Amino acid sequence: MTRKIYIKTFGCQMNEYDSDKMADVLGDAEGLEKTDRPEDADVILFNTCSVREKAQEKVFHDLGRVKHLKRDNPNLIIGVGGCVASQEGAAIVERAPYVDLVFGPQTLHRLPDLISKRRASGRPQVDISFPEIEKFDHMPPARVEGATAFVSIMEGCSKYCTFCVVPYTRGEEVSRPLDDILTEIATLVGQGVKEVTLLGQNVNAWRAPISRGSDDIGDFAFLLECVHEVPGIERIRYTTSHPREMTQRLFDAYAKLPRLVSQLHLPVQSGSDRVLAAMKRGYTALEYKAVVRKLRAARPDLSLTSDFIVGFPGETEDDFEKTMKLIDDVGFDGSFSFVYSARPGTPAADLADDTPQDVKLARLARLQKRIDEQAQAVSQSMVGSVQRILVEGHARKDAAELAGRTDNNRVVNFPGPARLINQFIDVRITSALPHSLRGEVVIREAVSA
Ligand code: SF4
Repeated sequence: MTRKIYIKTFGCQMNEYDSDKMADVLGDAEGLEKTDRPEDADVILFNTCSVREKAQEKVFHDLGRVKHLKRDNPNLIIGVGGCVASQEGAAIVERAPYVDLVFGPQTLHRLPDLISKRRASGRPQVDISFPEIEKFDHMPPARVEGATAFVSIMEGCSKYCTFCVVPYTRGEEVSRPLDDILTEIATLVGQGVKEVTLLGQNVNAWRAPISRGSDDIGDFAFLLECVHEVPGIERIRYTTSHPREMTQRLFDAYAKLPRLVSQLHLPVQSGSDRVLAAMKRGYTALEYKAVVRKLRAARPDLSLTSDFIVGFPGETEDDFEKTMKLIDDVGFDGSFSFVYSARPGTPAADLADDTPQDVKLARLARLQKRIDEQAQAVSQSMVGSVQRILVEGHARKDAAELAGRTDNNRVVNFPGPARLINQFIDVRITSALPHSLRGEVVIREAVSA
């Protein structure tokens, strides 16, 4: 009988990507196949995130829910990976001795080895080291379904924003070699991929030699140019980026690389210079706006999404109004926005925080409402336009329809034949709904002479 692996993923796209890699690594080494049911699994992994409040408690709660499965299957392996694992390390096994593996984002490629050692020694294995680039070298080739794929290009972060655990859990920025990235993308194209999303905590901090052994260092704009040249790649996305790493060369890339989408996630966090300084973001609101101005000079229809933290320690009403002003000045198309919650071990966790929670929640609701209005206005402005979409599959709510994504990452549902799946096609947008668009296929008439 085929042995199975159940993975529960929390948090960001990096974690989603890492979970796929865990499945790939263990599929390759142990022949494990994915299951949605923990009770059917031979290996259960929790890929954790420490960004949300009480993340640690949530992990122990989830572990408690699968603990009894070991009674029926004594060979069951239970593992904890991701950022909480990195932060807590062996403390997880001390509190939950039935956990077999604790591994970090940088050691997930060692899972087969950790499982073997666990079986041979009978002792839990903990490996939360940062072996830098080694992870990229030990990954089996990505398996892809459909025409889109994520490609990890760098790991970690060296920015040390005062509220964030990433530099402590994922380590400093490490860029993957250019050749490896391009080879992976070319392989993906061979498997039918047409759209890639370059992935990393700070993708635009990517720097690497322009060829193996060269002293010439290429930047992220150079990488985009190279990916743009890969035959078969028709659309390039990337996430997440940092305003401090936005260079003139990157602005120029938007002017000259048509396959780079007109959509960018550029976290700002706050519109108050005082709060930005306390967060150690390394830019002012004016500098952020200057970056956006230059981007839109190169790509006028650029759709921007962002991250916001509301109620950072010491945020006053005036600070918050500055954030609202920045939102009005820039015009966003969506956000990941949260009320601040302290992450243990970060500098901001020691700051006095005397804004009542209900005030913070009211600010967040106001911010989200404003950005929803802005996003809705963008959607409305698309009605009547013809959009090029990549058809990803059947619509979620109506299997008789298809769904695809526009350049600016909106889902369009439309009636059409299944043969269009994984193809780029043109659709005319007929209406805008709160979370999607509706459209109809544009039939291009052959023009006879
Ligand atoms: S840039 Fe700041 S918020 Fe983003 S991962 Fe790095 S430390 Fe965290």
